[in-house]
Amino acid sequence: MPTVLKNYINGQWCESRSSTLIEVINPATGQRICRVPAGCSQDIADAAESANQAWEIWRNTPAIQRIQYLFKMKHVLETHTDEIAAICTKECGKTFAESKAEMTRALENIEVACGIPTLMQSVFSEDIATGVDEFVIRQPLGVGACISPFNFPIMIPFWFMPYAIACGNTYIIKPSEKVPMTMTRIFELFETLNFPKGVLNMVHGGKEVVDAILENPFIPAISFVGSTPVAKHVYQLGTLNGKRVQAQGGAKNAVVVMPDAEIETTVRIIVDSAFGCAGQRCLAASVVITVGDVAEKITGKIVKLAQSKKTGNGMVGEVDMGPVITMESKERILRLIQSGIDEGAELLLDGRDVKVTGFEDGNFIGPTILGKVSAESEVYKTEIFGPVLSFINVKTLDEAIQLINLNRYGNSACIFTRSGAAARKFRHNALAGNIGVNIGVAAPMAFFPFSGWKESFFGDLHGQSSHAVEFYTQTKVVIERWNEEWSRKF
Ligand code: NAD
Repeated sequence: MPTVLKNYINGQWCESRSSTLIEVINPATGQRICRVPAGCSQDIADAAESANQAWEIWRNTPAIQRIQYLFKMKHVLETHTDEIAAICTKECGKTFAESKAEMTRALENIEVACGIPTLMQSVFSEDIATGVDEFVIRQPLGVGACISPFNFPIMIPFWFMPYAIACGNTYIIKPSEKVPMTMTRIFELFETLNFPKGVLNMVHGGKEVVDAILENPFIPAISFVGSTPVAKHVYQLGTLNGKRVQAQGGAKNAVVVMPDAEIETTVRIIVDSAFGCAGQRCLAASVVITVGDVAEKITGKIVKLAQSKKTGNGMVGEVDMGPVITMESKERILRLIQSGIDEGAELLLDGRDVKVTGFEDGNFIGPTILGKVSAESEVYKTEIFGPVLSFINVKTLDEAIQLINLNRYGNSACIFTRSGAAARKFRHNALAGNIGVNIGVAAPMAFFPFSGWKESFFGDLHGQSSHAVEFYTQTKVVIERWNEEWSRKF
């Protein structure tokens, strides 16, 4: 891989037309690992034009042939899992095991998209009137694009891309400029699959490239994943330009612990959820809402287990938690912890001064836990996106649900209980798109849509599965009359 990354357009590696470069830093070492172009609108114009030309050939390639490329894609990624996971850990910081797990989720989406010949099937009604039939056909839209965030460099583009191309669209991926190497390596492997030129493209860059995607007339459908302010911007500008947009945003996920929860399992699952990927998961537990007196039974155990988690370079074995993505991110998280303390929270576990020998320039924060957090405080309301867990206590399940429902985000909400009635009430009333019952990270499998409500999602159809198929196709209704007499007369 070159030290200055290139775009992949029309089946070729090419330099960006922008000469501005962004440094890519290993978050565990603080060292520069490569540079990526900031990109410009002309890069997107080139990619969109080539993808649009390729679309004519690709949409007329039978679905059963299109998915043959996906079978090969799965194989080549699977056989390079360790190499890709190592690159992911190097630029993103998560542990090697977490990077490999991410690859598994990407592969599952390819597997589901291989069912496109069936997933694209539609409905047919014979004889809606005498000799008249009506049916629906699904057709691709043209050029699709994915704009992805830093925290899952492998998985997130696969929530969309395999479905889009299997449906007959061509595609452009814009990786996060913070973690551009992983997708670059994946595209090097895609090159060996011999897709028709222009079917799959990758353009690097930041805001200018995103805005160019939102303005480009050849791109009718855009999938975005990232923070809420940017998701809102992408949704508003994209739809203003007449595009289909699905924009997944930020999160502030609560887990409710009922007095009857099974304590040991609940403790283990909550700690994994809150501190896995250093809390940089959009489904990470960020707030524990304890109901009644369960706080006394569970808080100390969660603190003890969190304290045992080892923070360090994700490539080193025995490490449970890697660094956060950038120094700015670390500073923002430290400021939020301090604001929580200033607003009256109890500091139950302090990870601010964690030292990792040999990696003194890494962006490390150890697991941090705040007790008695106020629902009015900044730390409670703001998405932290780091290894910080807040505790808040309420008297009843209704109060817990009310707290969740007042939250501006609605990505996920989980409950820990042995009561079916409590679980059912929670599932029915909590305003969040992904619900977990005795589950800490309610991440839908590839054959379910990745939901998300309120300010965690702008749009209607989500990523993955049948939603992705609907998003990347348009339906055409056909009404046909065939009359035997005409054939006889001919
Ligand atoms: P981000 O919003 O900063 O960046 C996401 C993408 O938008 C990147 O490709 C970036 O280049 C681009 N971008 C950034 N600023 C922009 C701007 N002003 N205008 C146009 N484009 C811009 O997000 P991030 O920090 O990379 O990722 C973390 C965020 O993503 C968190 O908020 C997290 O909750 C969210 N996330 C959500 C989900 C979900 O499924 N809802 C999944 C993963 C991450």
